[in-house]
Amino acid sequence: MTDILKEYGLDENKIKAFAAYGDLLVRWNEKMNLTSITEEKEIARRHFIDSLSPLSYGDFKGKSVIDVGTGAGFPGIPMKIAENTIRLTLVDSLNKRISFLQAVVAALGLKDVSCIHGRAEELGRTDLRESFDFALSRAVAALPVLAELCLPFVKVGGYFIAMKGPDPKEETALAESAISKLGGKTEDIKTIVTADYTHTLIFIYKKSPTPSNLPRPFAKIKKNPL
Ligand code: SAH
Repeated sequence: MTDILKEYGLDENKIKAFAAYGDLLVRWNEKMNLTSITEEKEIARRHFIDSLSPLSYGDFKGKSVIDVGTGAGFPGIPMKIAENTIRLTLVDSLNKRISFLQAVVAALGLKDVSCIHGRAEELGRTDLRESFDFALSRAVAALPVLAELCLPFVKVGGYFIAMKGPDPKEETALAESAISKLGGKTEDIKTIVTADYTHTLIFIYKKSPTPSNLPRPFAKIKKNPL
């Protein structure tokens, strides 16, 4: 794992933090379902390095970031380790995962991270609404649904970055009307090619406030995407 992280250009302290995170992930994964990837090098490539990709395309220094449906902490925790001025909020609807994340934050001594147990569509109606520079999400839902879960959290002038597979064009086209109703506009798609995978980052700019009737309850979002 260490050589892969070194190759990426991380310093020794950050590499140590990633190694500790990897150990906790493997250990806790024996007791609860956190990831299907258990081999060290694969964890480094497919979870850690993949999670860092947004950092290459934006200035995250001192910015507030919410990771929606973070699971075992991806992409939020790796981004925070690499750029420690990020003010991070991690959200997941499964409380067991939140317990794991709290253990990681304590073990690594990460500051300015809050781990919140809840459903995104409900939290998007609390004071978390329109309070983040960035919302990020990886592997949670198809874009028309995901946009309604994530865009309400973003301040006007901020971005929602969806981390997607190799060919998100059709998904993005299907989500266009939802994105626009939520106050967003798709601005850019970046493609990341490695020896192991091709992934994309969809950058959605928040250009106007999300209307107060959104987000809707999950059953409605799912049954009838905007
Ligand atoms: N982002 C992580 C986890 C993906 S699995 C990764 O890339 O590895 C999807 C996660 O989203 C699960 O942990 C699930 O509990 C959470 N989730 C699904 N719907 C959600 C919702 N509406 N609100 C909050 N979390 C949700």
